[in-house]
Amino acid sequence: MSDLYEVSHWINGAAQRGTPVATQDIFNPATGAVQGKLLLGSSADLEAAVAAAAAAFPAWAAKSALARARVFYKFLAIVQERSAVLADCLVREHGKTFPDAMGEVARGIENIEFATGIPQLLKGDFSDQIATGIDAWTLRQPLGVVAGITPFNFPAMVPLWMFPLAIACGNTFVLKPSERDPAASLLMAEWLKEAGLPDGVFNVVQGDRAIVEAILAHPQIEAVSFVGSTPVAESIYRAGTAAGKRVQALGGAKNHLVVMPDADIAMAADALIGAAFGAAGERCMAISVAVVVGDVGPALIEALKSRIAALKVGEGHQDKVDMGPVITAEACARIKRLIGEGVAAGAEAVVDGRAIAVPGFEAGYFVGPTLLDGVTPDMIVYREEIFGPVLCIVRMPDLPSAVKLINDHEFGNGVAIYTRDGGVAREFVRHIRVGMVGVNVPLPVPMAFSSFGGWKRSLFGDHHAYGPEGVRFYTRQKAVMQRWPDSQSAKGPEFAFPQMG
Ligand code: NAD
Repeated sequence: MSDLYEVSHWINGAAQRGTPVATQDIFNPATGAVQGKLLLGSSADLEAAVAAAAAAFPAWAAKSALARARVFYKFLAIVQERSAVLADCLVREHGKTFPDAMGEVARGIENIEFATGIPQLLKGDFSDQIATGIDAWTLRQPLGVVAGITPFNFPAMVPLWMFPLAIACGNTFVLKPSERDPAASLLMAEWLKEAGLPDGVFNVVQGDRAIVEAILAHPQIEAVSFVGSTPVAESIYRAGTAAGKRVQALGGAKNHLVVMPDADIAMAADALIGAAFGAAGERCMAISVAVVVGDVGPALIEALKSRIAALKVGEGHQDKVDMGPVITAEACARIKRLIGEGVAAGAEAVVDGRAIAVPGFEAGYFVGPTLLDGVTPDMIVYREEIFGPVLCIVRMPDLPSAVKLINDHEFGNGVAIYTRDGGVAREFVRHIRVGMVGVNVPLPVPMAFSSFGGWKRSLFGDHHAYGPEGVRFYTRQKAVMQRWPDSQSAKGPEFAFPQMG
């Protein structure tokens, strides 16, 4: 017991135990062993965090954008220097491989880099002389206290999608990380303090659904950014907006990759292997359906089979491991059950990962890469987000039927097409009802200076995450019209809209 670490809250610039309602085990998914204890916060802990954030807001918002950016230059240098420390924490709590964890940190760092540009990003516009002697201009101001609620699959990157930009815009922040892998949030909190962020500007409250409900009910929280599964995203969007908050809630996905008859099969197979099985399929942009158009099925399946046979599954720090475990014993059992349901419904398990054993890690939550052929749109393995290393193959006769299949799915996060035909790719891009589209690119994740978001039931709200849409989400625009006394000729009161001139 004495070896177990404890993960607490971060309130007003310091780690705080608060008044925990319970503790929850933190597991190492590769070994199945309990490695730490998480203190689940109470509503009093959330209250303390919001109070600290509200108290810190006026002074933080009053700082110049450049002064706020400078904190993030320092934070950037710290995260860059200690990337491996953060990545190691992700491997131990999430289970992803170390190179993949370093990739997650790198994508997070890009969001800090974007936030350092905040003086430029907050520039308003100006219209000279909109009427005689009157100028008009806009500015963007922070909202106040904003909250982020994040999923287990990117415990560093998704919080980094949110808080650098929110705080750089002048807000103060309360983060509720996933209870599965919470330690990264505390590392980032310590490093923000080291970078010079004033106490109270960034706070972390650990917990589960009860803390989320307290966030949604809190009158001083102006906005909520959520990333997680669709049922929770939808309920948070509804409850948050009903309470008058601004909400962006990013949900689940079922991402398709269309392989056209003229595609480079080796290139498409490599793309499918990385995108379906990387991070054990636990990415919201993972490809979980290959839509095979025409007669390329047999050649593609042979190419996939040989590549899957070469994949190494293991603990994330092991040498040359391609794929780690899934997050919990429950997720492992659920994924295996869904594979079974797919087979029972008539899909063929070309490769079945249910019986995998990883030597030395027998109690880990491993599911081997699984390839299901003959999947049809009515099957549960097609309809549901499995969020594990399972790739389904659906056959379609032509491009219009492939497009219809994808457009009819409830999710619309990411999609890709593999073809050598520019005209086909262009038609696909124009007609597909999905938020992020790759052309011979399997994971079309926008860079930090663009914005990330799906369509349909993959996103609730009007703003995509991070990038320019993040700036808009975390600020409100004010429009100003000004006239100075010495520039107006006294005309007496005006009762109609002025005519320009
Ligand atoms: P989740 O929905 O179970 O949990 C997300 C967050 O919500 C966690 O902080 C959790 O504590 C909280 N939560 C869970 N159940 C809740 C409830 N009933 N009421 C209130 N709060 C609740 O998601 P997860 O399993 O942590 O993450 C995986 C999911 O996230 C997948 O569906 C994946 O597609 C999605 N995801 C989406 C994106 C995206 O950008 N669209 C990115 C990453 C992950």
